[in-house]
Amino acid sequence: MSIKTQLVVIGGGPGGYTAAFLAADMGMQVTLIDEKKNPGGTCLYVGCIPSKAYLHVTKLLNEAKEAPNWGVTFGEPKIDIDKLRAFKDEVVNANTSGTGMLVKQRKINYIQGKASFVNSNTVTVNKVDGGMEEVVFENAILATGSIPAHIQGLTIDSPRVMDSTDALEMKDIPQRLLVVGGGVIGMELGSVYASFGSKVTVVELMPSLLPGTDKDLVKVFQKSIEPKFEKILLKTKVAKLEDTGSAIRVELDGEDLEEKVLEFDKALISIGRTPFTKGLGLENTKIDVTQRGFVKTNEKCQTSDSNIYAIGDVTEGPMLAHKASAEGKVAVEAIAGHKVAFEPAAIPGVVYTDPEVAFAGLTEIEAKEKGIKVDVARFPWAASGRARTMDRSDGLTKLIFDPDTERVLGVGIVGPGAGEMIAEGTLAIEMAALAKDVALTIHAHPTLSETVMEAAEVHFGQATHLYRPKRK
Ligand SMILES: Cc1cc2nc3c(=O)[nH]c(=O)nc-3n(C[C@H](O)[C@H](O)[C@H](O)COP(=O)(O)OP(=O)(O)OC[C@H]3O[C@@H](n4cnc5c(N)ncnc54)[C@H](O)[C@@H]3O)c2cc1C
Repeated sequence: MSIKTQLVVIGGGPGGYTAAFLAADMGMQVTLIDEKKNPGGTCLYVGCIPSKAYLHVTKLLNEAKEAPNWGVTFGEPKIDIDKLRAFKDEVVNANTSGTGMLVKQRKINYIQGKASFVNSNTVTVNKVDGGMEEVVFENAILATGSIPAHIQGLTIDSPRVMDSTDALEMKDIPQRLLVVGGGVIGMELGSVYASFGSKVTVVELMPSLLPGTDKDLVKVFQKSIEPKFEKILLKTKVAKLEDTGSAIRVELDGEDLEEKVLEFDKALISIGRTPFTKGLGLENTKIDVTQRGFVKTNEKCQTSDSNIYAIGDVTEGPMLAHKASAEGKVAVEAIAGHKVAFEPAAIPGVVYTDPEVAFAGLTEIEAKEKGIKVDVARFPWAASGRARTMDRSDGLTKLIFDPDTERVLGVGIVGPGAGEMIAEGTLAIEMAALAKDVALTIHAHPTLSETVMEAAEVHFGQATHLYRPKRK
């Protein structure tokens, strides 16, 4: 069977479904292809959404542990793993059936299957029901996302070794869990398992957790999170992984290690993700890929095959759902002939641990690397009334300014709720706000968001709740 469509979107993740929905809203005739029954992709099925459902419970457990300090004592928590998983599944189902409904409401032609390019105007779809369909398109958007990366030479086929998808399945709560990789996914899922009772050891190759993240934020984050883990081994490499039949035996390489061989019940490999283009038939098009396998695009998200666009994890840039959906909108508008470009001043990043870490725009590290002169203002949460009411003075809000124009170039926040607060910082950067704009904006009291305003006041040496006069 062959159909003709104005726009085909391959991949129904947050990039693909956002693009398909906007295109349909703009009056295009759209075909969306994904193997799942409903759109959602990594984000809704095995990424952002299920991980945050577990992290919500983790936060509750952490608070219950602290509650005796505030005069309330709960009993030892009992973890019902089947109910936990059911809660996570319910959250995923609610979200994905919602996207499914939106597909129908928008009258998008949804094909459940795997697409492959035959040429620059045609894809074939191997449908999940066994059939085959040919789709002839005017324009295409490629949004096939990414898959977990493996450690070269260390991949072993063992039910004790998990990637993030397996970890979210939460078949059991291992007594001893090894997390390889102290990046966002490792820290988020490591904290989940630690809160449910696993003794978690994190091994990270780089000298700090959350590599690439602002040092001030990581320092506060690590101090708060370290007690929740059994061990955090930095500058340490996994040299060998072996399933002994009763455990995972790991050989470590690193300085100052007390023990070089450790045993765990399970291991989570979370060393990053790679773009997914396998079986897509890119060789039948003029699409170019980088050495690392990312699809090359221009500022309009257009590939080197001019009627094919690419967005999200399969292209370069941060692997984040909101980056994928923002690119999806640009690609659709470009196809519609609008004058657009994907040129954000800031893409926020959030680590949803407890405390959360959030950042947007320029970091001090980047400024140093690029030789950009910046002014930095820090507001520690020990001086925030709201943070004190929550017994959470373990936070920091940091603003980075252009010293000449006083324009906000970067924002970094660590503390509970940082992920929600970063929106203000992102808006400030995108709107070219000045330090004075942020300092003069009245923030509700008592809120954690006041720390953003007070960080701007620090810049002028006039923060109400912090005596830090400006150096002359
Ligand atoms: C554990 C975890 C937690 C995460 N947490 C966050 C978070 O909190 N915030 C955040 O912003 N990001 C988070 N991410 C990253 C986020 O999930 C991705 O950045 C996002 O899903 C990328 O969207 P996408 O549309 O590019 O691709 P994806 O969501 O990966 O979707 C791609 C879709 O394309 C389909 N597909 C692939 N090939 C074909 C084909 N040939 N034919 C048809 N369909 C195909 C795939 O099956 C998939 O459904 C997390 C990721 C993980 C793994």
